[in-house]
Amino acid sequence: DNTRFSSKWTVHVEVRLKARASARFESIRTLVHTYMDSLQRVHLPSVLEGWEDVPELGSSVERITVCECACPSPSLPAEEMAVQVHVYQPTDGDAFEEFSNSAGGRNDDDDTMAASVCELPNRGYEGLWDSLIYAGDIKMKLLDYIHATMVFSDANVDFNLVSWNRVVLLHGPPGTGKTSLCRALAQKLSIRLSHRYTHARLLEINSHSLFSKWFSESGKLVQRLFTSITELVEEEDGFVVVLIGIPISFIDEVESLTAARAGAMVGTEPSDGLRVVNALLTQLDKLKQRKNVLIMATSNLVKAIDTAFVDRADIIQYVDLPSREAIYEILRSCLCEIICKGIVDTIAVPSLKQVQILELVNKPTTALSNSSDSQERSKNVGLRLFALATCCRAQGMSGRALRRLPVLALARYIGVGSLGSAYGASQAPNGRSGAPVEV
Ligand code: ADP
Repeated sequence: DNTRFSSKWTVHVEVRLKARASARFESIRTLVHTYMDSLQRVHLPSVLEGWEDVPELGSSVERITVCECACPSPSLPAEEMAVQVHVYQPTDGDAFEEFSNSAGGRNDDDDTMAASVCELPNRGYEGLWDSLIYAGDIKMKLLDYIHATMVFSDANVDFNLVSWNRVVLLHGPPGTGKTSLCRALAQKLSIRLSHRYTHARLLEINSHSLFSKWFSESGKLVQRLFTSITELVEEEDGFVVVLIGIPISFIDEVESLTAARAGAMVGTEPSDGLRVVNALLTQLDKLKQRKNVLIMATSNLVKAIDTAFVDRADIIQYVDLPSREAIYEILRSCLCEIICKGIVDTIAVPSLKQVQILELVNKPTTALSNSSDSQERSKNVGLRLFALATCCRAQGMSGRALRRLPVLALARYIGVGSLGSAYGASQAPNGRSGAPVEV
């Protein structure tokens, strides 16, 4: 079933069931396979349409997505696809459960939560994977890594000869989507691996409670936490993703680690930071034999992290600030969303490819609102958005900063009064006040 081992491209198709649908996954999978067989060509990636007329699909299925694939062309003929259908029914977003680390009988100051556990796939994380945009192929690289570990695990490769740690480290500036990517990957895995594991969980360690609060006790806390993780991992039919954000406060402490290490060697007490790191490393090492666990760590400053920790990571991925092209895609997705929700007038926003071609031959000329030709306006919207992307890139804006630009832009629009009359004056029939704003 691997792209590299066959002449066909593996195409993953994710089928999301409606919340209360009680359909049998197996029969839905068969029906989707049959439906896919009836198509001559499929776009990659795309949201499938047309299946609603198949009665059992129409009543139970919410969405069918053909996922991105290693194939470089934008579409594939049926005969070149090896389709893998993944049927899933996400649980509701509020299925969080936290467990406390206060087992030591201490007073109420110690009621911080050490971690939260979330059942996957989770409705709250739907769409997250697709919303994350990177210049390099980071997302596919991570999925391929998991796939590779599965191939080796399945083949029972001797761990003495070939070994890996099931640890991935993402580092880079704040707000570049590292935490979101970990959550999105966990969600993706729970969908893709559902034929192997009956359930999946994401355990997010609240590192602040571990690393900063009772620092001298952190080693013990880590130990206790990993005992709980091990209990989760012992359920072999479940997959567990552990997410650890390594906070700056921890890194500050670790920055003096080399010195602390040298000190430790000549018999000095190891520092608190060293104790935490050692506890973490020892525990991580124990988990590497387990097939059903993945540990993902994020950090803003990898240089400061202990090399022993970094060495444990199979993948050390730098997540950079978005490129101009990625910024365009992010801003485009923001604009499309507010158009879709009726806040901004409907207009076609050119794709990145389209705008790159436009850029070569055009410059934005007319004021947008003055042009009545919708094609001309759409072209201008694209060019202006691209110019904006260039400015944002020059300022080194993060994905997080970009995603809040629309609300700031709207606030400014309201501030200058243009919206006051157009937007706030009347009450639209749908209960929202005012008419959509023209781009
Ligand atoms: P980090 O963990 O790197 O500090 P987060 O995962 O907390 O970043 O990112 C915050 C939010 O910023 C994300 O939920 C997402 O909406 C947005 N974001 C960040 N990077 C990107 C990106 N590359 N593409 C799209 N959105 C992004």
